[in-house]
Amino acid sequence: MSHPALNQITVPQGAVMVRTCVGCSRRALRADLIRVVVSKNGVCTVDPTSAQPGRGAWIHPDPTCIETARKRRAFQRALSCEGDIDAHMWDQLGQVASSRAHSALVE
Ligand SMILES: [Zn+2]
Repeated sequence: MSHPALNQITVPQGAVMVRTCVGCSRRALRADLIRVVVSKNGVCTVDPTSAQPGRGAWIHPDPTCIETARKRRAFQRALSCEGDIDAHMWDQLGQVASSRAHSALVE
């Protein structure tokens, strides 16, 4: 008798959702990153639910990664969005990041 169960150990597609941070270029779980989406008219916005439609880029909730991304224009590159990112987007990203960082500390 063979043991089919032993031959069927596969990782289901999409079970581990890994994305690359645009700040430090390290890979991390989706759940540990913040998503930024670009709308059809090229405006970047923070997507705290990670559920908005559109092209997305991911970043750690870490001020260092955010600062690096800002300096390198990493979101513009990742999202092929030509224009400058609104200062409001960076404020919002900072707020979402600090609330994530806070909840991580509480855990
Ligand atoms: Zn990062």
